[in-house]
Amino acid sequence: LTEEERDVLERIDREGIDFLRLQFTDILGTVKNVSVPADQAEKAFTEGIYFDGSSIEGFVRIQESDMRLKPDASTFAVLPWRDTSARLICDVIDTSTGEPFEGDPRAVLKNALERAEEMGYEVNAAPEPEFFLFEEDEEGRATTKTNDAGGYFDVAPKDLASDVRRDIIYGLEDMGFDIEASHHEVAEGQHEINFEYDDALSTADNVATFRTVVRAIAAQHDLHATFMPKPIPKINGSGMHTHISLFQDGENAFHDEDDEFDLSETAKQFTAGILEHAPALAAVTNPTVNSYKRLVPGYEAPVYVAWSDRNRSALIRKPAARVPASSRIEARFPDPSCNPYLAFAVLIHAGLDGVEKGLDCPDPIRENIYEFDEQKREEYGIETLPTNLGEAVDALEDDDTIYEALGPHVGPKFVEAKSTEFAEYLVDVSDWELDRYLEKF
Ligand code: GLU
Ligand code: MG
Ligand code: MG
Repeated sequence: LTEEERDVLERIDREGIDFLRLQFTDILGTVKNVSVPADQAEKAFTEGIYFDGSSIEGFVRIQESDMRLKPDASTFAVLPWRDTSARLICDVIDTSTGEPFEGDPRAVLKNALERAEEMGYEVNAAPEPEFFLFEEDEEGRATTKTNDAGGYFDVAPKDLASDVRRDIIYGLEDMGFDIEASHHEVAEGQHEINFEYDDALSTADNVATFRTVVRAIAAQHDLHATFMPKPIPKINGSGMHTHISLFQDGENAFHDEDDEFDLSETAKQFTAGILEHAPALAAVTNPTVNSYKRLVPGYEAPVYVAWSDRNRSALIRKPAARVPASSRIEARFPDPSCNPYLAFAVLIHAGLDGVEKGLDCPDPIRENIYEFDEQKREEYGIETLPTNLGEAVDALEDDDTIYEALGPHVGPKFVEAKSTEFAEYLVDVSDWELDRYLEKF
């Protein structure tokens, strides 16, 4: 056992933990877990815990289904809503080879980080996941009724939303999060909680944990928290802006104080890489049919492939940095329905591709691109993101760099799952169509 693993065993003893939830995610980013009695902890560290991978989306076929979970001791956290249980995030091991399983999203991200390391970089990331809180109906099912709607003009309404947000933050802090800020977002019922940046792997783990904690604590208040990107038409949707920087030898490799934007050549090449691969990236960072209802003009979500040092209509923004260490870029297109491991992996590969090829970064766009017409966009050479999931998946299949970034297992499985999802959507008849046509024709 490592020292860290021994510490975990001690904490299990000291804190009276009875159950361990061994956690991992499938390729769609859904958190899965296997619960084992805490006295299995030592065995989990030394031998791993076996499970049937064939019942996990995108994993393996039935005839090759034995998988092993290997807990990462650094991720030990006691669950705040069930204090005799703790969770450990796991790597998935392929039992036939003893190697990390290529279909494990965490392994896909680790591969991206390895490439960065070979180029001399560490990757830091910080996400800004937005979400809605909705009321439940009598049967406990989610509605799209916001719980603070109409609160604006009420005299002394109980501000239920801020109570819930406070409890969510306590829960996150109990699990080791450093919360930077939280606020009510633009839309009714919409919230955002920001946490401190970390290395990209820890941040992806944190996003997975964040979504679980937010949902669990909202449910204690009889509310449904959703990370669906656009639950209500014609108001802002939920994004998961992702701030990224590369560090080299402990210094921020994105910072250059002599540059007009405080951005180094590396930062600009990285930006150029993301812009270059944006259409294919969208399939992973915006992986649902609904994602593309958010990526429309007018709601602070990006549509056009450009970067800016100020406006929020661009795909990438350069936030004002207070200190050199905080020079970074903000990718504004990802949404919180993504698998954070895969999304960070493809963003990193796209950026590193830009650095490796020394891609030229275009000039920033300082105007509101929503107001550009097609001719002006053409003049500036600004492309648009895919307008639906089908186009995005096509772009992914056409982009070798991004497709290969997913690895030989996840690439084809992901494309298959998403093509099926889009095909199902295409044959569906929506309420919008019925409202519009049923009585008219
Ligand atoms: N909700 C917006 C989005 O869809 C972002 C608002 C903001 O700038 O925080 O990305
Ligand atoms: Mg926001
Ligand atoms: Mg932001």
